[in-house]
Amino acid sequence: MKCPHCQHVQKLTMRAYYRSPRGRHVCVSCTQRFKLRWSFSYVALLALASLTTVYAPALILYWLTRSVWLAALCGVACLFLFCFPIDRLLDERRDTEKVPA
Ligand SMILES: [Zn+2]
Repeated sequence: MKCPHCQHVQKLTMRAYYRSPRGRHVCVSCTQRFKLRWSFSYVALLALASLTTVYAPALILYWLTRSVWLAALCGVACLFLFCFPIDRLLDERRDTEKVPA
């Protein structure tokens, strides 16, 4: 992530990712706040990632077992194991913008 105030590039750790579900971060260099900018390509890639890593495995497991709870548990596990790390990688490459005061 690049700070829009001072252009400092900082790594988005999983801890920082989970602490900021709305995509608002504080620069470690200038301590100014900034947020991640939404784009069509980000939403499309996130939708593709969630379809392939969460919904498809859960749907296949439901088709095999007919258990809603097992499919839901599989979906939640896949969300944390695959989808959130992919989203963090996407977030790290998203453009940033200043947070209005
Ligand atoms: Zn900064």
